Amino acid sequence: MAFADGVVVVGVDGDDTLWRCQDAFDDAEIEVARLLADVAPLEEVMDALARTERANLGTYGFGVKAWTLNVLETVEQYGVSLVPQVLALGKGLLTGPVEVLPGAREAVEALGRTHRVVLVTKGDLVDQQRKLRASGLLDCFSHVEIVSDKTPAQYTELLRFLDITPAQFLMVGNSEVSDVHPVLELGGWAVHVPYRTTWVLERSAGPVVHDRHLAVASLSEVPELLGAGWL
Ligand SMILES: [Mg+2]
Repeated sequence: MAFADGVVVVGVDGDDTLWRCQDAFDDAEIEVARLLADVAPLEEVMDALARTERANLGTYGFGVKAWTLNVLETVEQYGVSLVPQVLALGKGLLTGPVEVLPGAREAVEALGRTHRVVLVTKGDLVDQQRKLRASGLLDCFSHVEIVSDKTPAQYTELLRFLDITPAQFLMVGNSEVSDVHPVLELGGWAVHVPYRTTWVLERSAGPVVHDRHLAVASLSEVPELLGAGWL
């Protein structure tokens, strides 16, 4: 069986697959570490923030507002108050420019000629809606799904809604944790398109080896991979 034979719906991730995201978080975290430079080294601040994020994930979920609360909690552990500065960084993330990755529109349009293409993204609802609007890509998708987390249960619900089996679904994204593992687990297909920086909680433990999985360097390679080509 050829790769992705039988796939009718392609799910495409948003953050760091269609538009840049993690760079802004990385920059904001470096700024937090800079504000705490007198009390702790950068590495320690990053580790402390990752610990806080891990501990609060089940309560806050993903996105900028969770990040803001987690930074406030982490900063407070150092006995420092940086409330206005941290709120400003969070608001900056929620209002900053949305930069669509080169070739993203062309790739999604090409996929749309041979498959139903749906956006599957997670994070703050308001923020994801804003980014989608600002990206100008809304018209590329037959359906938009903004989920609180990309778990096998969430994907199962989506497949039920789309009225397809897991074998008819392929997910494309930059996160092995969110876009690859849960879909493979259900019996679907996955294409990993790594981005140059990955949030610590989205990093996979090891390389993925699976018949229904491929990794490619760019989203632009995916249409040809699925037999869509460049028409
Ligand atoms: Mg992503």
